[in-house]
Amino acid sequence: MFIALEGGDGAGKSTQIKRLSRALTEAGTSVLTTREPGGSPLGERIRHLVLSPEFAPVDARTEALLFAASRSAHVETVIRPALQRGEVVITDRFLDSSVAYQGAGRGLGAEAVREISMWAVAGLVPDLTVLLDVSEATGRARRSSREQDRMEQEPEQFHREVREAFLALASDAPDRYLVLDADAPVPVLAEEILRQVRDLLTA
Ligand code: C5P
Repeated sequence: MFIALEGGDGAGKSTQIKRLSRALTEAGTSVLTTREPGGSPLGERIRHLVLSPEFAPVDARTEALLFAASRSAHVETVIRPALQRGEVVITDRFLDSSVAYQGAGRGLGAEAVREISMWAVAGLVPDLTVLLDVSEATGRARRSSREQDRMEQEPEQFHREVREAFLALASDAPDRYLVLDADAPVPVLAEEILRQVRDLLTA
């Protein structure tokens, strides 16, 4: 089973991934947690290049193509092999982040970015995508507490567009999406996510 956590910066994805992974592992399930951009040795190098101040600002198309290349390596060398071994793969971000950040935030258009992304992953789509929908106020507060995050430079409108794009993706594919309010208490969110994953595992 392939699970992705998505959401704007400061949504709390990594906290939820740790909790979900721990709960599943304790129940005897083999779990692989991973992240994007990155997730494979080559992918992590690409992440470093794109996020490095050395090359800032990276042109939007260049960024979309580099993230697509990073994702392709991630899928072929890490995600598909783990799925073939029967593991539950949980990724911090996947293709929908590109549609939201590069498609909406950077204005390349959702369709164009989805197309190159689907090509890059050869059609692999998560069985479940958890969207931690982060309010403007919470996102802003959490971003400003992170040092040197290049997203701090982005205007509020950028984050608003990213958020709206995630919500539009979720409403287009309600069967694979679980949308949760990222402002809810951590244990409440964790319980909700675990319940949904258990239902899918036993279906
Ligand atoms: O989720 P994480 O904090 O690891 O992402 C690293 C940075 O890359 C964040 O600032 C995030 O907003 C950005 N990002 C992006 N486009 C993507 C995925 C992540 O700009 N497709």
